[in-house]
Amino acid sequence: MPEIHPNFRSLDVAIIGGGIGGLCASIAMRRQGHRVTIYERADFAGEVGASISCAANGTQWLHEWDVDIEKGDGVILLQLINRDWESGDPVSVVDLHDYKERWGNYYYMFHRQYMHRMLMDCATEGKGEGTPVVLKVNHKCTSIDTSSGTITFEDGVTAHHDLVIGCDGIGSAVRKVIGINVEKRPSDSSCLHANVTTEEAVKLGLPDYSKDNAIEYWGGHNSVNKIVLSPCNGGSLLSYYCFFPRTKGDYANQNWDANAPVEDLLAPYPDLDKQVFNHLAIGKEIRPWRLWVHEPYSHWQKGVVGIMGDAAHPMMPDQSQGACMAIEDAAAIGLCFSREHFDGDVNKALRVYEEVRKPRASKVQAAAARARENIHERIGFSDNTDNSRYSVKDEKEKLTIEYMNSYDMHKHVAEVYQQHREQGTGMNGAV
Ligand SMILES: Cc1cc2nc3c(=O)[nH]c(=O)nc-3n(C[C@H](O)[C@H](O)[C@H](O)COP(=O)(O)OP(=O)(O)OC[C@H]3O[C@@H](n4cnc5c(N)ncnc54)[C@H](O)[C@@H]3O)c2cc1C
Repeated sequence: MPEIHPNFRSLDVAIIGGGIGGLCASIAMRRQGHRVTIYERADFAGEVGASISCAANGTQWLHEWDVDIEKGDGVILLQLINRDWESGDPVSVVDLHDYKERWGNYYYMFHRQYMHRMLMDCATEGKGEGTPVVLKVNHKCTSIDTSSGTITFEDGVTAHHDLVIGCDGIGSAVRKVIGINVEKRPSDSSCLHANVTTEEAVKLGLPDYSKDNAIEYWGGHNSVNKIVLSPCNGGSLLSYYCFFPRTKGDYANQNWDANAPVEDLLAPYPDLDKQVFNHLAIGKEIRPWRLWVHEPYSHWQKGVVGIMGDAAHPMMPDQSQGACMAIEDAAAIGLCFSREHFDGDVNKALRVYEEVRKPRASKVQAAAARARENIHERIGFSDNTDNSRYSVKDEKEKLTIEYMNSYDMHKHVAEVYQQHREQGTGMNGAV
């Protein structure tokens, strides 16, 4: 057991936003002896989910926090399959049957709502280390005093906390509070998501893709056209992310909960493999996925307020790392405010967190943008060494499974804290 820092103190923490990132941050902080309240603007009713990827770099932390992963009813990923756009024949297969053996943890595909419930139970229930997290729904944050930690909600109610973490997603209000001017542009691509039940597809004589335990891709070669299929809920649900040029349908300003008709989903794909096309034709809960390209932000913290997850580094979905990056952020926050390292200086811990996380998250963010049109940039396909057929923009910048899964965050946080100690930096970076 590492020694407890002599100046460690238990904080009263506010988490703004109860999505995947917020819940993970609440668990990480609870485990370190802090008291946590989550303020969520919605009430989670009527949400429609889709498959969410949790690769080993995310699963690692779920184990470390004692999350009951069985509750997520995930599908274990065993291969990546890239199929020909028109025939559907596999053109490139990445075999991941030894993934757990090599990297120590499974790559799961969870239904977001199941994952959300699994994390919510872990955060709020009595069992497990630390004080159960308090969840307050229907609390929309509108402003925060970054020095005092006083939060104001839409209805005028206020709350005061020692530390405030903004986990409020891509349209983050907390990000504005810490003074970030967002530079963003709509992507050249649009995306519609659809759910198909394996049972219905099989009844109609269509292929049972759930048996492949794979993320399957049609297209993605120097083209924004791509279909991504990811099974979840033990294989009973097939989650389709369907990309096409924005000129063929613009959803950039739609909400996740706006519905689209099946005709809109099928229209961009007259030449698509008929097997998968017929799956899409029975698609339900067709929802737009807003695609905005964000450049990395100048900073992630101010005073006693920090940001994480999509609020800090929104990214294209093409590396399937959005949730994992939020989980890693949460893990870093937990370590920066851990009994071992936290010396009572809240802003210093936030600066260490930013220093640890920003380079890695920005690298994934940039690689996700490149993978939008080039599947060979996607982790896994990028490991393919047959260079005559596969190329990435910059070999040094590409993401590999090894880069993602060999990272030692415990060591990294300890090193950055050590550097700060050597430089003697205190509050607000003052020496
Ligand atoms: C409803 C929904 C469904 C999604 N479905 C999928 C999916 O199926 N597959 C997938 O890969 N990704 C999905 N995502 C995105 C994915 O969860 C995130 O990219 C990733 O998990 C990072 O999570 P996050 O916690 O940073 O942000 P988010 O998951 O976006 O969570 C942000 C949370 O903050 C809340 N919030 C926003 N503003 C405020 C405010 N001012 N005050 C208080 N609370 C606020 C939001 O209601 C939300 O609960 C979904 C996101 C949402 C919100």
